[in-house]
Amino acid sequence: MPTRDAGKPAKKLLSVQRNAAHHWVGDGFPVRTLLTYSELGALISPFLLLDYAGPMEFPPTEQRLGVGEHPHRGFETVTIVYAGEVEHRDSSGGGGCIGPGDVQWMTTASGVVHEELHGRDFARHGGILEMVQLWVNLPARDKMSSPHYQSIPSSRIPTVNLPGGQGSIRVIAGEFGGLAGPARTFTPVHVWDLRLASEQSFDLAVPDGYPAALVVLKGSVRVNAVETIGAAEVGLFDRVGGHLCIDSAHAVTALLLCGEPIDEPIAGSGPFVMNTGEEIRQAIADYQSGKMGHLPPRS
Ligand code: MN
Repeated sequence: MPTRDAGKPAKKLLSVQRNAAHHWVGDGFPVRTLLTYSELGALISPFLLLDYAGPMEFPPTEQRLGVGEHPHRGFETVTIVYAGEVEHRDSSGGGGCIGPGDVQWMTTASGVVHEELHGRDFARHGGILEMVQLWVNLPARDKMSSPHYQSIPSSRIPTVNLPGGQGSIRVIAGEFGGLAGPARTFTPVHVWDLRLASEQSFDLAVPDGYPAALVVLKGSVRVNAVETIGAAEVGLFDRVGGHLCIDSAHAVTALLLCGEPIDEPIAGSGPFVMNTGEEIRQAIADYQSGKMGHLPPRS
C-alpha cells in the first residue's frame, strides 16, 4: 500500500456538512442528523441518513430508555456502537444487545416494527453512550423482500493496519486492503471504521466511480490541503477519483461511506423510504392494519 497514489486523481471535496442541532429519538438517543436524503439525495446515494447519537453520559437507572415500538419499510438500518449498549427487538424475530465495536445490520425491506433501548447492564451502571445509525437504501426490486437481521460482533470485523503506524481500518461492509467485511449487502456498499493517528499524510484508496462521505466523529482531518473536517462534520466527495488526499489528521475516529449509487426516485415519510407517494400511502396503511407485525411481550 503506497502512502501516495501516483495513479488516479484524488476525489474532489464537494462540500462539508455540519449540523450542531441535537434532537431526541425517544428518550434514549440524543442525535445530530449529519446526512439526510431530503437535502442531499443523489449526492449520498445509496445512503439515506446518518444520525450520530451522543457522546452523552447517562446516570444509572432501572428505567428502559430508548425508543419504543415503531415501523420501518424500504431500506436497511445499520447501528454501530462506540460506547454503551443498544438492545434491539423486531417483529421478524431478530434481536440482540450490542456493545462497543459491534454492529447490527437490519434489512427492514417489506416492513418490521422494532424497539431500540439502552442495554440493561449499561442502564444499571450508567456511562457514556455513543453510536451511529446509518440508513442504507434498497433498490426498488428489493424493497418488498423479506426482513432480515445480521448481528455482527466486533470479533467478526477484520482490521487492516495502515503502514507506518498511521492508523487502522475496520471493514464492516465491502472491501479494503484485500479484506472483505462481514455485512451482506444488496448492492455494492463500503462501510469502514477508521482510526487515524495524529499528524499523518497519506492517500486513502477509495473506489473510483462512487460518491464518498467521510464522517468525522472525533478529531479532525485536513483533506486536499485546503479544507478541515472536524468532529461531527462530513466531507462529501465526488464520484470521480481513486483516493482521498488526507494531508494531516488529529487522532481521528471516522466512518468512510461509499457505494454504488441507486439512481431511482426517492419518496420518504418518517420511517418509510420508497420510490413513490403511493407506496408510502400503502406502507402507512399496512403498518396501521398490523401487516408489519408486532413485538412479542417483553419477558
Ligand atoms: Mn428504528
